[in-house]
Amino acid sequence: MAVDESKYAEIIQELNARKVTLVAVSKLQSAKDIKRMYELGQRDFGENYVQELADKQGQLPQDIRWHFIGHLQSNKVKFISPFVHLIQGVDSLKLLNEINKQAKKTGRVIHCLLQIHIAQEETKFGLNEAELDEIITTVQEKPEDYSNIFIDGLMGMASFSDDLEKVRSEMKMLKSLFDKYSSLSTPDSYRENCQLSTLSMGMSGDYKLAIEEGSNMVRIGSLLFGARPPK
Ligand SMILES: *Cc1c(COP(=O)(O)O)cnc(C)c1O
Repeated sequence: MAVDESKYAEIIQELNARKVTLVAVSKLQSAKDIKRMYELGQRDFGENYVQELADKQGQLPQDIRWHFIGHLQSNKVKFISPFVHLIQGVDSLKLLNEINKQAKKTGRVIHCLLQIHIAQEETKFGLNEAELDEIITTVQEKPEDYSNIFIDGLMGMASFSDDLEKVRSEMKMLKSLFDKYSSLSTPDSYRENCQLSTLSMGMSGDYKLAIEEGSNMVRIGSLLFGARPPK
């Protein structure tokens, strides 16, 4: 598959105008195609598979900001903790504890987004509001136990559906949680390891809708790289 350069130019212009960060989702795409997009100026790339990410990180320019965007198993955190830029998709306190532990070993602070379950489909990972609340409360109450992580915001995936009103209402739900919890991080209640400023929602099929609904980070793969080769 080839990088669609004119599509990239169009999308990056549209996103820059709205101050939305583009994460180019490069899972299953070749290092050559990633390099091509890097040469066009792209620096944020998203990957879903730990081994694949570690391999690509070794081969590609070191100033790439690698986002881990899928479901991450705790026992695999150590393979990406030395370099990962943002772990999107933290969906348990157990995982957050492991990220903190591995980050400490390399003297880093790893930035994370908490993944919220918004789609009605059962298969998608993510937290409900009570679980989100528990994680944020824990981290804010014991900042000394979480000195190697920083919670930057929330991430969610809406249903894959043609029913735009359903997709929109899922996005609205995520945005309202984001607003609620980001307002808790105003200077008054400032905590050193949790300030929600990033809302990652929107993919190839629904990113325009997501931006209308308040997203400031989108994760776009197939629209930029073409269809993914099978895993
Ligand atoms: C694969 C993936 C994307 C990108 O999907 P496209 O439809 O190709 O844009 C975005 N977010 C996550 C979490 C993904 O796994």
